[in-house]
Amino acid sequence: MGQQIAHVDYLALGDEPHLVAHECMGCGARYFDRRNACAGCFGTEFRSVDVPTTGEVRAFTIVSLAAPGIPVPFVAAVVDCDGTSVRGNLINVEPDADHVATGMKVRLATYSLGVDEAGTEAVGFGFEPLS
Ligand SMILES: [Zn+2]
Repeated sequence: MGQQIAHVDYLALGDEPHLVAHECMGCGARYFDRRNACAGCFGTEFRSVDVPTTGEVRAFTIVSLAAPGIPVPFVAAVVDCDGTSVRGNLINVEPDADHVATGMKVRLATYSLGVDEAGTEAVGFGFEPLS
């Protein structure tokens, strides 16, 4: 079996893949990108926190136009994972308004983005309906 590498650095792989956020020690704001200071309180100390893998769709957009090579349509969503807002695509769902709704329950899911010559697999994440 080859190696796996996460497509984004805040995706932790392993037996139970999950997202890891940087939480501001001052005000509790959570970020997925690395930053030197909190946008809310200008605090500079952060700790790593595991983000719950289930959540609820807060907002979504069905994207039907994208750069060449990106399959459309797909659903770009903001998912509220127990208080942490996560941007991600909905996967394993029909990308239309009959199958996607705000308030729907979803869970984190990973998928392969491809394998390079060395056998390393790139892994991305999305959210799929919780059934
Ligand atoms: Zn803060």
